[in-house]
Amino acid sequence: MKYYIENFGCQMNEHDVEKVNTLLHIAGFEQVRDAKGADVVIVNTCCIREKAEQKFYSLMGRLQGLKRKRGTLLGITGCIAQLEKEAILEKLPFIDFSLGPSSIHQVREAIASASRKTRFLDFSDNGCKASLYVRPQRGKEAIKAFVTIMKGCDNYCSYCIVPYVRGREKSRDSADILDEIRYLAGEGVKEVTLLGQNVNSYNRGREDLSFPELLSKVNDVDGLERIRFVTSHPRDLSRELIDCFGNLAKLCEHIHLPFQSGSDKVLKAMNRGYTAAEYVEKLDRLKNGCNNIAVTADCIVGFPGEDEKDFEATVELVKKVRFDGMFSFCFSPRKHTRASTLPGAVSKEVALRRLQELQALQKAITRERLKELEGKKVEVLAEGVSKNSEEELTGRTRTNKIVNFKAPRTLVRELVEVEIVKGFANSLRGAQVTREEVDNV
Ligand code: SAM
Ligand code: SF4
Repeated sequence: MKYYIENFGCQMNEHDVEKVNTLLHIAGFEQVRDAKGADVVIVNTCCIREKAEQKFYSLMGRLQGLKRKRGTLLGITGCIAQLEKEAILEKLPFIDFSLGPSSIHQVREAIASASRKTRFLDFSDNGCKASLYVRPQRGKEAIKAFVTIMKGCDNYCSYCIVPYVRGREKSRDSADILDEIRYLAGEGVKEVTLLGQNVNSYNRGREDLSFPELLSKVNDVDGLERIRFVTSHPRDLSRELIDCFGNLAKLCEHIHLPFQSGSDKVLKAMNRGYTAAEYVEKLDRLKNGCNNIAVTADCIVGFPGEDEKDFEATVELVKKVRFDGMFSFCFSPRKHTRASTLPGAVSKEVALRRLQELQALQKAITRERLKELEGKKVEVLAEGVSKNSEEELTGRTRTNKIVNFKAPRTLVRELVEVEIVKGFANSLRGAQVTREEVDNV
């Protein structure tokens, strides 16, 4: 059987698709690049903002036509499946199966059942252990890999739908995580990214390693060169975790630390559990222990009750911190969340104007920060041939910046020393150098 899979959303979803691919490959399915040539089409869904949902429903409209014409089996997985449960059939009565994020390990059963013309639905959380423990297979050429360390979230930020669709926090046993990472390193993977909605609370309340202890063990894995993780919650960023950046050689100097707003009033309404000053103080502590750490973040504008003064506080925070990069979004009211019932809605026009102002500011800062690297020598993990030139390789610095540089293909998978010769809007150009000493920026 041939299948086509389409993904929406975050790195968690990307990783869930890797798991589905693994399960289907083992069962002998063949993946195709065009829905038209598939017997089964699977759409892995995201509902973090309304836009993601709209894109999904319009895709499903197109796929319904395909099903009518060719009899293709249609299934959905992920967050919208979980959000809507059985009610999805009112909107999409033509789908053959639907699996919540904790039930993706059932994908083969779902397809088998759909082939027998019996619709398959599963939104239970009992299977979470199974979905958490599926180990994706990667080709021998894989250089980087995601590793799930936990699922769900207990934070209930007032705008966020994640706890309602991904469930309560559950951590995966450290022994199993380490076993997977050792296996990956043995297969030649050089970099792992540990995934969780709030990695800082990994194993909270359990008799197992804490997150900093886990990082320390991962750091000891032979053959592995780099470690990253996403995402951290500023409130739970502990002293021990901050210390890891200075102490663990393989832990890359980059943290993604969403601040969401620079206004204390808005942060309180968001239920984030810190003030803007406390956020900046944590960054100062991080920089004290690791002065070249790159910081990226997420931010929401147009949250209910956000006035011009609140927005100005966000702009001020962005100017003060000078993030290496930032994802910013207009607030999108989500079903079940407290923020969707709050008074003080900000009009779409105002929210969009604020978003554009913030994004223009960040764009200028990102460019400045990349320019500041000109002349510095850095370590780059060469990931492949550049899209723009056959003669160039592309890779990332430890601080997660993209660098293109002239070098032979034999250096793909290697750590290469590169001098930055030019900073652009979103990437860097470099030249390979032979000096031992690098600035690691
Ligand atoms: N767990 C991570 C965290 O706490 O930062 C990631 C959560 S979410 C997948 C990624 C980002 O989407 C959030 O940091 C937030 O900025 C944004 N987001 C979440 N809910 C939103 C909403 N209702 N409207 C707009 N943006 C939202
Ligand atoms: Fe959503 Fe907050 Fe949990 Fe992140 S920490 S997933 S924003 S509830």
